[in-house]
Amino acid sequence: FSCDTLEKAEAFLKSHNDSGSLVLQNFVGNTFVSSSQPTHDLNTINPKTCKPFAKVPLSSASEVEQALQAATIAFKTWSKTTRETRSKYLQRVAQLIQENRELFAIWESIDQGKTLARARIEVDRAISNFKYFSTFILHTQTAARMVDNVALTYEHRSPVGVFALISPWNMPLYLLTWKIAPCLAFGCTAVAKPSELTSMSAFLLCEIFQRAELPSGVVNIVFGDGATTGAALVRSPLVKGVSFTGGTETGVRIRRETADQVWKHLSLELGGKNPTLVFEDVEVGRAVETAAMAAFENQGEICLCGSRIYVQSSMYDDFVSEFTAYVTANYRCGGRVGAVVSVPHYQKIRSYLELAEVEKATFLSGSIPPANPQEGLWIEPVVLTGVSTSSRIMREEIFGPVVTIAKFETEEEAIELANDNPNGLAAVLLTKDGARMRRVGEQIEAGLIWVNCWLVRELGTPFGGMKNSGTGREGGEYSRDVFTNVRTLHIPM
Ligand code: NAD
Repeated sequence: FSCDTLEKAEAFLKSHNDSGSLVLQNFVGNTFVSSSQPTHDLNTINPKTCKPFAKVPLSSASEVEQALQAATIAFKTWSKTTRETRSKYLQRVAQLIQENRELFAIWESIDQGKTLARARIEVDRAISNFKYFSTFILHTQTAARMVDNVALTYEHRSPVGVFALISPWNMPLYLLTWKIAPCLAFGCTAVAKPSELTSMSAFLLCEIFQRAELPSGVVNIVFGDGATTGAALVRSPLVKGVSFTGGTETGVRIRRETADQVWKHLSLELGGKNPTLVFEDVEVGRAVETAAMAAFENQGEICLCGSRIYVQSSMYDDFVSEFTAYVTANYRCGGRVGAVVSVPHYQKIRSYLELAEVEKATFLSGSIPPANPQEGLWIEPVVLTGVSTSSRIMREEIFGPVVTIAKFETEEEAIELANDNPNGLAAVLLTKDGARMRRVGEQIEAGLIWVNCWLVRELGTPFGGMKNSGTGREGGEYSRDVFTNVRTLHIPM
């Protein structure tokens, strides 16, 4: 898959697609394994052209089981390695991804539909995931205390075991490595399953693991869908923990399917329908730029996107006209906006836009895209006003380039509107007033609040959502809680 430009990758693809698409293979025990039932392979497309892209194995329960066996055997020795050893492997993986940065970015951009610029940012974040945890484990400490000078008590941490790592299609490499890096760092082994819609970067990652000479079975990758492959993985008694990022419905299903396995560690990072609050004290131009980026980056296919904008009434008209002009000038398909990931997802976004038309919302920019796209899954950014707070458009995650703008009068009303949603992942506050930043920020029901910025991340900070947006937190110490068991020892002196 060697290529150094997008054009070469596309030419390579064209020559392959003439004789059939790319065929991916599972990675088990450091070996590439062909699909046992190639006729069941799943076909993916290049979202920018609608042409076939890859054939992804639909791994059966027995193929999942083989990967879990490999991870279980590997756990026996990997869990006993020193943190210095694990740190070196992680650094090696980071280095190898770095050396192949452009290759990863090119294939990720073709597979997911995102722009090449966006793909590069995400590859850099994947590298940071490995670098961060390679350093983090060298410096973690556990607490020890004396109780009344008679007993020493301390926490002992040990790796949990084999983890199922399941990721979605919107930021494939970044989100999968956000799980693989801490999993390995804390001494667990992994069977990872990327989304069936965007498996290419995980496939390339397998070769990186091979070249890094990771011990056999420490990380295994199985491809497949949720119903067959994901469900078999999550439910297996060999899996001691599940780290999942994806939709809320799937999160609920995983919780239900593992309810009787109370010992299983579960971390669920789920969907969002995030508010952006614009207060009258901000400078309109700056507010417009941040709100537009939060709404339309990666064509709105980021769980943290701000898809509900609320603007204080005194600046509402100015904001709306500047926002519409800015989006029209700066967020165009093929420029900063990529294609959406798949035909079903395109149709889902389209159905919300049809609903907007039925409900007589105003389209300030964008429109309903064609029903039968032939030349790529392109949706020009849509800015809607006049949508009722009870509309499904306002309440449900659309996960595409669609934003609503509505008005508020007071700070209290802004908080109420922001919290009037079953999700609670993230929020953006745009204000210059320091007291308000805290006052409002501390009342928003969301795990991540960005003030006058968006998507800024330090990997040690807790990442995760409130309400229907998930259970648990990941990042630094919080990832350690996911991937380790803690026991407290009491030793009389
Ligand atoms: P999805 O829930 O459909 O799929 C996510 C993953 O789960 C895929 O790999 C899928 O194959 C697998 N899966 C599906 N059913 C399963 C089952 N029964 N058992 C085990 N695995 C199963 O989500 P998606 O459509 O791929 O991704 C979009 C969603 O992800 C959005 O809701 C978005 O907000 C969310 N997301 C959340 C975060 C976060 O950090 N909170 C980040 C990115 C995306």
